[in-house]
Amino acid sequence: MQTWQVETQCPQCGAPITLREAQHILNCQYCKTRLYLTSRGPFRYTIPQRRQGEDTVFIPFWRVRGLGFTAYLPPKTQGKPLDKTFMALDLPLRLYSLGLRPQVSKLVFANLHQGTFLRPRIGFKHLLARAEKQAAAPVMEKTRVKRETNLFLSGLGENAPFNNSDFSSWNLSETQTVFKKYEPVFSAFLDDGVNLIYFPVIPEGGKVVRLKDGLTGKLIGRVPEADWKKITARRATVIPPAGTLPLLCPNCGWDLKCEDESWAALCPGCGRLWGVSQGKYVPIPFEIVPSRDPDPLYLPFWKLETVIPKLGLHTAGDLMKFSNQPGPGTPNPHAPLFTCLPAFKVQPHLFLQICRVFTLAQPKGQPSGKIPGDAYPVILPPQKVRKLIPVVMAEIGAIKTGFFPKLPQANPTIKAVSLIFLPFKKGGYEVSFSGNLTFAIPRNALKWGKRL
Ligand SMILES: [Zn+2]
Ligand SMILES: [Zn+2]
Repeated sequence: MQTWQVETQCPQCGAPITLREAQHILNCQYCKTRLYLTSRGPFRYTIPQRRQGEDTVFIPFWRVRGLGFTAYLPPKTQGKPLDKTFMALDLPLRLYSLGLRPQVSKLVFANLHQGTFLRPRIGFKHLLARAEKQAAAPVMEKTRVKRETNLFLSGLGENAPFNNSDFSSWNLSETQTVFKKYEPVFSAFLDDGVNLIYFPVIPEGGKVVRLKDGLTGKLIGRVPEADWKKITARRATVIPPAGTLPLLCPNCGWDLKCEDESWAALCPGCGRLWGVSQGKYVPIPFEIVPSRDPDPLYLPFWKLETVIPKLGLHTAGDLMKFSNQPGPGTPNPHAPLFTCLPAFKVQPHLFLQICRVFTLAQPKGQPSGKIPGDAYPVILPPQKVRKLIPVVMAEIGAIKTGFFPKLPQANPTIKAVSLIFLPFKKGGYEVSFSGNLTFAIPRNALKWGKRL
């Protein structure tokens, strides 16, 4: 997947800063200003046009990027990266996606640019549904099957001289390719932020308005003047700037600890964990699983208390029956059921595996007033990962053909949200869980996940 870059300036000292798209943490190398960028709705960026002109019209595109997960029948679950841009207007332009343009030039925040910004007319939910549908198209899988044909018994050999008593010599062995079709049943998309990207277009007047690509100057469409007037009347009056929060603990004023990719920030002063919702810091309850290891790496997981009546899942005991696997240890069957999902990103296949293993483990920690020393950043917010619960249950359930058709109606209810830090032992190539089950995550997968 491509990560686009955003060029901006430090609001304090004006120094240039490059961010990854959808990055929340702004760190100024020069004056050490640290801010959390917030946004009502999507972040709005534009590709800066080289040909400056007041008459520039900006066409909105939705940028959708993340991991798509699908459950298929015959039973199979799969995840894959999804990276698309769609025009958020219905315009007759020879420009369906932004292609390579954002890799050539960096993006800038749209509110810092002059011009006419058209309002999106097609909601991203509609486009997202279309993208999910595309991602969840039936899959054909090739399998090679070895077949033995007995020439004598199949009749093909009836004209062959019948003087050999060794029938095995009449067998012809061949390898055939068989296609198996998988139909999607349910899909969920773990987005990495859905953003609006405005593309500059230069209109040239006349009875028919000629629209030119604001970057290359190439003609990309013609629209009758009357239609163009209607289209440009639907403009955004104000492009809201990204909001900012100081990276200081709202409780004790200490510098918050986080990385560029973080969604949540930790306070080393008062030991609180803060997420951001509606432009404000919100405290997140968390627990820690203690470790005897003197220097563990703590990986963050969302612990969502989950009920799915449609799948008969109410308690930890129901989960054990559903999975037909006793979890590690003997959990109280009447205890609430928690879905345990990583708050960090790794490649889709490993992500699902981690979800399955740690949900089956139903880890329990201790509430702690202290943040762990070496904690991996909390990158994914709970409202994003919760969409994956039906796919995780598809991964866990034993009698798949029985419940797969019910997945679209599964509608899990989340009764409580908290975060749990699980200790992992640091190795050269991998980190391995120091709890009551064996599970290792390659270090490269974590490194790669930050850029995902
Ligand atoms: Zn600065
Ligand atoms: Zn604090």
